[in-house]
Amino acid sequence: MKQVIVVGAGPAGLMAAISAAENGADVLLLEKMPSPGRKILITGKGRCNFTNRCELSDFPKHFPNNGAFLYSALRVFDNQDLIDFFSARGVASKVERGGRLFPVSDKALDIVEALTKAVRQAGVKIQTGHTVQSILTEDNRVIGVVCGTETLKADAVVLATGGLSYPGTGSTGDGYRLAKELGHSVTPLAPALIPLETIENWVKELQGLSLKNVEAIVRIDGRKVDSDFGEMMFTHFGISGPIILSLSQAVSKALKQTPAPEIVVDVNLKPALTPETLDKRLRRDFTAVVRKQFKNSLGDLLPAKMIPVIVRLSGIQPDKPVHQITREERLRLVDLLQNLRLGIRGTRPVAEAVVTAGGIEVKEIQPKTMESRLTKGLYFAGEIMDVDGHTGGFNLQAAFSTGFVAGRAAAKIDFKK
Ligand SMILES: Cc1cc2nc3c(=O)[nH]c(=O)nc-3n(C[C@H](O)[C@H](O)[C@H](O)COP(=O)(O)OP(=O)(O)OC[C@H]3O[C@@H](n4cnc5c(N)ncnc54)[C@H](O)[C@@H]3O)c2cc1C
Repeated sequence: MKQVIVVGAGPAGLMAAISAAENGADVLLLEKMPSPGRKILITGKGRCNFTNRCELSDFPKHFPNNGAFLYSALRVFDNQDLIDFFSARGVASKVERGGRLFPVSDKALDIVEALTKAVRQAGVKIQTGHTVQSILTEDNRVIGVVCGTETLKADAVVLATGGLSYPGTGSTGDGYRLAKELGHSVTPLAPALIPLETIENWVKELQGLSLKNVEAIVRIDGRKVDSDFGEMMFTHFGISGPIILSLSQAVSKALKQTPAPEIVVDVNLKPALTPETLDKRLRRDFTAVVRKQFKNSLGDLLPAKMIPVIVRLSGIQPDKPVHQITREERLRLVDLLQNLRLGIRGTRPVAEAVVTAGGIEVKEIQPKTMESRLTKGLYFAGEIMDVDGHTGGFNLQAAFSTGFVAGRAAAKIDFKK
């Protein structure tokens, strides 16, 4: 019986442990936090968007970095396999906007409980509160790990310690050091799916305001590089919400350029209207409230919290009666409503990112088994690798698929090869 040690009980490690045990290995799962799956509990705002319904062939497109590397693992264990895995363990799922899958109960806890139950049923020994400090090798082959004062023997080790984001869940980047000590390269680590800090201070006045059905466009040195439609929100430091998180991948990339380019996000508050129809709409609204002052005339068009900001940015006198607003002023207002410009100063720190971009160089990992090309018996799974996906369940699917493949290969390790 092969001895397999899995380091980290996140989605990747839990799945790797189940898969290794179901393939006949004697498995020990070591987790440094007091309980497994801490990060899963906060995914999808506590509802856990665990995968996406999209076609398998489309999955790699949802990973801006190294999507093709994941293809073999996804083919072995795809979104339907994951849906079936949870369904067989009593967690029924439902599809929402954009093909996102959630447990019917809307409880991430159900996902964690299904995984921990499966771990136990598969005969995995799980030890929480155990931090792995180093991986031991002999003649370029894994022989065990050091955990506290103990040395634990293993034929194979699966490293599934996650990235650097939300360190309070246990993801503090230990695995990068452990892998580097064995000669692996770690590509530059940066936040991905991260809120953006703006130059404009007026965002503070809008803190907590969420806007639905808006379009946001990222422009780098004036050139449009990405756009998204949906929901965003204002925070005390800038902007966040689903469409901003997806656009942040383009922003993170641009921030690495030298000299620093000019990065802006233009928000179209009325994307369904052409400038002409929006102008018509404004004329109609103004005619209906002809005696009102400008500052009191936008109630049908904008959320109340936003009106003072838009009035100020428009440059139109707030007390001006609407019938005195000139055509030029109105057209300026149309442009403002459809191109609300926000200068981007940077992203929030990696600790606040949904995922970490960068990680173990995938060229040093065999895509079919997740085994290290440098050290026999060392396997990787999940976010520790240089792969990061869009929002929509892609990151968890990647963690589960690579965990499944790594665990199975670790259980079947052949020392003669
Ligand atoms: C707020 C938030 C919301 C998210 N929502 C979604 C979503 O809805 N859908 C989606 O697809 N993705 C989502 N993600 C991303 C997703 O959660 C991660 O990509 C995924 O959890 C990565 O899995 P992992 O197993 O590789 O790592 P992790 O989940 O980070 O697990 C790593 C584990 O390793 C343990 N560990 C670390 N070092 C050691 C050590 N030295 N010894 C022992 N144990 C160790 C950690 O304690 C941790 O339990 C979200 C992330 C965040 C932060």
